[in-house]
Amino acid sequence: MCGIFGIFNAEYAERYAFYGIYALQHRGQESVGIAVSNFEDIKVVKKPGLVLESVRKEDLESLSGYNAIAHVRYSTAGDSGGLNSQPIVRDTSLGRVAVVHNGNLVNYIPLRAELEEKGLRFVHTSDTELFLTLLEEGENLPEGIDLHPSDVEVLPRVFHALSRVRGAYSLLFLFKDKLIAVRDPMGFRPLLMGRLKDAVLFASESCAFDILQAELWREVKPGEVVVADAQGIRSYFPFKSEKKAMCIFELVYFSKPESFVFDSWVYRARKRMGELLAYEDEVLAETVVPVPDSGLVPALGYAQAKGLPLELGLIRNHYVGRSFIEPTQALRDIKVLMKLNPNRAVLEGKRVVVIDDSLVRGTTSKKIVNMLRRAGAKEVHMRIASPPVVGPCYYGIDTPTREELIANRMELEDIRRFIGADSLKYLSLESLRSVVESPQDFCDACFSNHYPLEVEGTAFRMR
Ligand code: AMP
Repeated sequence: MCGIFGIFNAEYAERYAFYGIYALQHRGQESVGIAVSNFEDIKVVKKPGLVLESVRKEDLESLSGYNAIAHVRYSTAGDSGGLNSQPIVRDTSLGRVAVVHNGNLVNYIPLRAELEEKGLRFVHTSDTELFLTLLEEGENLPEGIDLHPSDVEVLPRVFHALSRVRGAYSLLFLFKDKLIAVRDPMGFRPLLMGRLKDAVLFASESCAFDILQAELWREVKPGEVVVADAQGIRSYFPFKSEKKAMCIFELVYFSKPESFVFDSWVYRARKRMGELLAYEDEVLAETVVPVPDSGLVPALGYAQAKGLPLELGLIRNHYVGRSFIEPTQALRDIKVLMKLNPNRAVLEGKRVVVIDDSLVRGTTSKKIVNMLRRAGAKEVHMRIASPPVVGPCYYGIDTPTREELIANRMELEDIRRFIGADSLKYLSLESLRSVVESPQDFCDACFSNHYPLEVEGTAFRMR
C-alpha cells in the first residue's frame, strides 16, 4: 500500500510532485518523499508523517527542478522506520538514481540472499532497494527489442533488474535526465499516465492528475516500460505475461472513488457492488446507513437498488487517519471511536442495514454495531460489499496474517454473533467478479485463496 507520482519536464516539478502525492495520501500515511532532478543532479527530501504536515516550504525550495518522483508509504515490506522511506536514492555507475515502488516482490528473500552472497551490500530492509542493486548486476536485452539510441546505456540494465524480480511492482526510476515508469507484467498495481502542457505525468491513480488539472492520458500497460527524456516518450514491452492479476481490492477499498484505475471508474465498480449486494439480499429494513467513507458508494448502490432511503447514521470525524495505521489492537480500538460517531436523529427506533466495503478482522464492525445499538437502532443488519477476506495479500495490500482474518477462524453465524448484528451477509465472489469486464485478468486471492503468483521462500511481510 503506497502511492507513487512522477512528472517529467515541468518547471517547479517539486511543487507538482507535492500536490500530486498529496492527492494520493490515502494510499499511505507513514512517510512521504520527493526526489527532484534539474538535469544535473538529484536531490531528495523524506519525512515521516503526512504530506501537508511534514513537507515544508523550505524543503520544496531546496528541491527545485524539472523532473520529480514522489512517494507516500504505508509499509507492507521492511520495517516502518524512516530508513526505508522512499524515494531510495543511490549513486550507481549510471549516475545518481532514485526509485519509488508500489507493490511487493515475492522473491525478495531468496534473491537478496543470493545477491548478498555475491558480495552486494544492502542498506535497507525493503524490497524496493533491490531494483537499484540489480541495476549494477548485469544487462539484458530481450530478443526483438530495438532500443532508441538514447536508451542504449540505461535500459539493458533496467531490463536486467526486471528480469530478476518477481511480484507486484509499479515503479518510477528518476535519472538526472530521464524518468522511467514500469508496471509488472501481471499488472498487480495500477499506474497511469497524464499530460500537462509539455510535461508527462505518472500516478498510482488518476485523482492525482485532477488536482493538477492535468489530462488523464492512458494506463501504463502491464509489462510496459515507458521512458521519458529530452528525446521524447518511448514504450517497450521487454517481458510479457499471458496472465494478468490486477488487484480487485483496489476497486473494493483502496483506490479513491473518483479515480480511474485498471480501465475502470472506481465509483461505478463500487456502486455496482452495492447494487449486487442488494439484489442478493432479502433483509427488511427501513434505512440504509453507510460506514463512512469506505461504505458510502456501495451503500448508495444498495439503497437505490432497494428503493430505501440512505441516511447518515454514522458521522465521520475528518481529523483522524484510517483505523489500520495503529500498530496495536488497543490503539486501533480508540481510533474507531475517534473516527465515527452515531447519529441518534437517524437511528432511534429504526431497523437499519449498515453497509461497509469489507470485513477483515471484524473489530471495526463489532464496534459499529455496538455504537448503533447504543444510539437507539432497533435492529442492525450488517452488509459487506465484498466477499469474506480469507487470505493475506503478498502483492502489496496490508492485510493481517491468515490467523487474524476473522473469516478464516469462524463460520458466518459465529462472525455475526461476534460482531453482535441481527444479521450478516457478504457479497458473493461471483458477483464481485461480475463487476469487472474481464475477471480472469484480476487477482482476488484475498477473497478466493487463488494466488496468481507463488511466494518464493519466506513471504516478506512487515507484520
Ligand atoms: P476490520 O476491523 O479489520 O474488519 O476492518 C475493516 C475495515 O477496515 C473496513 O471498514 C475497511 O474499510 C477497512 N479496511 C479494509 N482493508 C483495509 C486495509 N488493508 N487497510 C486499512 N483499512 C482497511
